[in-house]
Amino acid sequence: MIERTLVVIKPDGVERCLSGRILARFEDAGLKIVGLKMVHVDKVVAMKHYTEDLAKRRGVHVRNMMVDFISSAPVVAAVLEGVGAVEVVRKITGDTEPRVAAPGTIRGDFSHVSYKYADSRKAPVKNIIHASSSVEDAKSEVALWFGKGEVFSYRSVHDVHVL
Ligand code: ADP
Repeated sequence: MIERTLVVIKPDGVERCLSGRILARFEDAGLKIVGLKMVHVDKVVAMKHYTEDLAKRRGVHVRNMMVDFISSAPVVAAVLEGVGAVEVVRKITGDTEPRVAAPGTIRGDFSHVSYKYADSRKAPVKNIIHASSSVEDAKSEVALWFGKGEVFSYRSVHDVHVL
């Protein structure tokens, strides 16, 4: 039942100085940070992250834009651990389109633009963070972003009062 999932605070989130507040939201929910780093990825890693699947679902141009965007500046990557962490982290993250992302979610509280607006500018939807969308994706994404020695097991207050 305990899962690990990947969160990446994208360049817009890092440059808006939201990293601490975003990580605090996950910690507040009782999720444990078991991996954390700032990294400026190259296009090779970016293309492994934004796979063919994104091109199939959203179009090749969206994939290309996202590859350029995520490799354009430093990002903050984290591995979060908790019960059903993949689904819970997506819930806290909110809908992909900021326009409809619910208040109280990270995307709903810190962004507001629509697909229509982003598409009219041929720009990425700036929605602050990436969060793995399935258990299967989480496994491959954690392995892509973090080496084995970069993910840790330790006891925290969550083990006593949350779990
Ligand atoms: P999510 O990040 O919620 O899992 P997707 O995997 O479908 O969503 O899309 C990856 C990212 O691509 C989104 O988070 C968003 O930043 C960007 N994106 C999605 N659709 C569009 C679009 N129509 N125009 C520009 N950027 C988009």
